[in-house]
Amino acid sequence: MSAAQAECLFCRIVAGQIPAKVVHESENVLAFRDINPQAPTHVLVIPKEHHPHAAALAAARPEVTAELVAAAGAIAEQEGISEAGYRLLFNTGEQAGQTVFHAHLHVLGGEWLGGLVG
Ligand code: 5GP
Ligand code: ZN
Repeated sequence: MSAAQAECLFCRIVAGQIPAKVVHESENVLAFRDINPQAPTHVLVIPKEHHPHAAALAAARPEVTAELVAAAGAIAEQEGISEAGYRLLFNTGEQAGQTVFHAHLHVLGGEWLGGLVG
C-alpha cells in the first residue's frame, strides 16, 4: 500500500485495518454498510483498487466499474429492495458532497426516496 493509500479510509477497510459490515466481496469489489445510513438499506460498493472517484475508475478500469453496478444489483436482490426500487449514486467532488476520495457507489433503498436527488 502506498503512503497516500495508507491515509485512505476505504483502502484501510479493504486491508482489514478498519472493521466494516461486509455484505458482498469478490476479487475486485468490496461492499459494506454505510456507518451513517441515509435509508433502511445503505451500502457502499467500492473497487478494492484505489481510484479517487467514479470517472477515474471508469477511465482506468471500465470492467471493474461494471462490476460495481452488477454487485449493486446483486446486493439489492439480497436486501429484498430490488423489486420496490433503489438508488445508485456516485458523489464526485467536494461540491457534490464527496467526503471519501476513494470511488464508491452508494446503494440506497428500503423506503420512498423522493425525487431525483432526494
Ligand atoms: P461520500 O459523502 O464521500 O459520497 O460518502 C462517504 C460515505 O462514507 C458517507 O455516507 C459516510 O457515512 C461513509 N463512511 C465514512 N466513514 C466510514 C467508515 O469508517 N465506515 C463506513 N462503513 N462508512 C463510512
Ligand atoms: Zn483508497
